[in-house]
Amino acid sequence: MKVIPLPLFYEEREGKLLLTDTSINFSDEFAESANFFSDFLRENTGIKLKNEKFAQINFLLDFSLREEEYRLDISGHSLNLSARTDCGAFYGVQTLIQLLKYEKGKYFFPEIYIEDAPHFKYRGFMLDIARHFFNKKEIMRLIELVSLHKFNYFHLHLTDDQGWRIESEKYPRLQEIASRRRGTILKNGTIDGVPHYGYLKKEELKEIVDYAKKHHLEVIPEIDMPGHMNALLAAYPELLCKGVKERPEVRTSWGISKNIICAGNEKAYAMLEDLLSEIIEIFPSRYIHLGGDEAPKHNWKGCSLCQEKIIQENLKDEEALQAYFMNHFQKFLKKHNKTVIGWNDGLHPDLNQDIIIEHWKPGTRKRVIKAANSGRKIIMSDFFHLYLDYPYAMTPLAKTYSFNPLKGIEKPENILGVETPIWTEWVPNRDKLDFQVFPRLAAVAEIAWTAPKLKDYNSFVNRLEHLYQVYRRFGVNYAKGKERKPNLIKRIYGTRKWWKNEDSEFLKD
Ligand SMILES: [Zn+2]
Repeated sequence: MKVIPLPLFYEEREGKLLLTDTSINFSDEFAESANFFSDFLRENTGIKLKNEKFAQINFLLDFSLREEEYRLDISGHSLNLSARTDCGAFYGVQTLIQLLKYEKGKYFFPEIYIEDAPHFKYRGFMLDIARHFFNKKEIMRLIELVSLHKFNYFHLHLTDDQGWRIESEKYPRLQEIASRRRGTILKNGTIDGVPHYGYLKKEELKEIVDYAKKHHLEVIPEIDMPGHMNALLAAYPELLCKGVKERPEVRTSWGISKNIICAGNEKAYAMLEDLLSEIIEIFPSRYIHLGGDEAPKHNWKGCSLCQEKIIQENLKDEEALQAYFMNHFQKFLKKHNKTVIGWNDGLHPDLNQDIIIEHWKPGTRKRVIKAANSGRKIIMSDFFHLYLDYPYAMTPLAKTYSFNPLKGIEKPENILGVETPIWTEWVPNRDKLDFQVFPRLAAVAEIAWTAPKLKDYNSFVNRLEHLYQVYRRFGVNYAKGKERKPNLIKRIYGTRKWWKNEDSEFLKD
């Protein structure tokens, strides 16, 4: 068995199903996944499947299966893929892509029986296109690779201090001013002086959403607020707090900006509602991510409008004002049947219980577990295991793999699943992105999909060799040799080196 994530149940058999000029049969329900499979075979092997009533390859409807479940039965003379939905069949196809083998001029599938379904219903990947812009083509390529690992959510971090990456009709200064910065900080602390810019047009985003849908991925847009809004504030400085003299520029360095949007200014609420209305038009996802992380309250403390708001609404302090602010947009989005997700920095006793919390922040796990045990829905994105932008020396593959999202959880039904982010401060291009993401994404796939009792790192590493062949077919610049566990000295040395010089680990490979 050479499939990642490991299926729920399988029985390997002797023998193989040779693929020559063969035939396929499927009902309308499976048109998308069956065509996806046919296209994949044609593009990668040259084999063309004919549609026939009595065929060697059959996509079968089975109402006894659950929504994302599939069953695969490959014998020497036939291949039967059963599912209840096209989504289930699509996951079966992803397994087939990994099972396909080539030997002595012939393509074949090994004879095998598989029953498979995911453990967690939320299996997310997050891409930050604000710190470094990745265009439509790059995003679509990642959609294909992420879906190969049976993820079902693709979270796009669209806005941040260093760039606003989404077109707005009503606020054009966002694409004219907020989508470009005059340079980018280097590890030695200087600014490179090379302008960095880019944003996605609405039409491009709709294409991305459609492409993701075909891969059974839902795109979740994130508009990070009230912090991480320096780019917006550079374009619309009138939304800064009263008393702030400095006019910000789109940030050229990383870290946390003290400029956050004014939560006492009604114009700020109106503008963000307008922007969210534009977002809703583009993204059909039931989830909208509103960030809520790393929002220093310095400006709010000195702002007459923010302080008036605190008194008017009878709020305890500035942290309660942030909860009020987030709740305002939760109510607004609820009217459009949207559920809000926020980073766990914004977890506050006043925060509406319907807001899903995404846990990332070191040192806050206990609070988040308490929230989950008292009924709040949580997505786990643990910094020490799932942040793919950190070096392998700091977060080796084995460490990522070892993550248990349910540790300390009394009510596992409140843990929706896991999400693995790639923040792109030090990830300027596709090669570096691939290196950081692969193969750690495969480890996260197994955390998210495979039943915890079946997880086994040695078995995973064995199966990786085969996945690397698939990666090579897709042209992925995966990090080679990272499945070996580095010793402690190498880890400390490598981590220190990374903080000093980002490329030390990357170039070695
Ligand atoms: Zn203010």
